[in-house]
Amino acid sequence: MKKIGKVLLIGLGIMIVVVCMVFYETIIHPQRSSKVVQFLRNPEEHTDWAVKAQSRCQDAPFLLPTDGLIGYLWGDSFRIGKHHQGIDIFGGTEAGITPVYAAYDGYLTRLPDWKSSLIIRIPDDPLQPGRQIWTYYTHMADKNGKSYIAADFPPGTSEVFVKAGTLLGYQGNYSGSANNPVGVHLHFSIVLSDSEGNFENELEIGNTLDPSPYFNLPLNGKENKDIIPVCSHTP
Ligand SMILES: [Zn+2]
Repeated sequence: MKKIGKVLLIGLGIMIVVVCMVFYETIIHPQRSSKVVQFLRNPEEHTDWAVKAQSRCQDAPFLLPTDGLIGYLWGDSFRIGKHHQGIDIFGGTEAGITPVYAAYDGYLTRLPDWKSSLIIRIPDDPLQPGRQIWTYYTHMADKNGKSYIAADFPPGTSEVFVKAGTLLGYQGNYSGSANNPVGVHLHFSIVLSDSEGNFENELEIGNTLDPSPYFNLPLNGKENKDIIPVCSHTP
């Protein structure tokens, strides 16, 4: 009887520790979250927290794809067991206003049923030559799914070459289901290729890369809990 009690007690102890760990993980870095709220309330007062579209941090291979506050990072956890596969850049404007540009040269595809998303194939990863990667851009539609993607890239577009800095569309708030808007932002992620050369499922963090070295910014949410990533210099 006593033994069972001990086992139960140890079990309870382990459970409490696990619950605390999960809780810590899911309160997604309060410093950064509170700054997102402050920025969205009054973007003009916090322009120093925002990055500039088409600028480059030092010698980073990628251009920043849009203006705004990089509020959520790669690896941030919003829900138990789920980790953010990319970065979220909040423009601080209404939907359909803040432009989104290509971060790097590549071949653009928009599947026939994509309202708010597109993907650009980069045949030669600038940081790992010989490897093919993809850059994925989403939330470019209004809350009902009316697309803000540039007219040059209609649904069904396949393998159209675009230069870094090409206008792709505008930040929106489409969540994927109508009338269930998210905050106006761009979600950007770097997705790996499968063995056939197609893009892997973007929804799995294991299929994506830490974007930090591509932008020269601290974009890894596991390492950077509090800092709002901005370019520290301007040459
Ligand atoms: Zn996101």
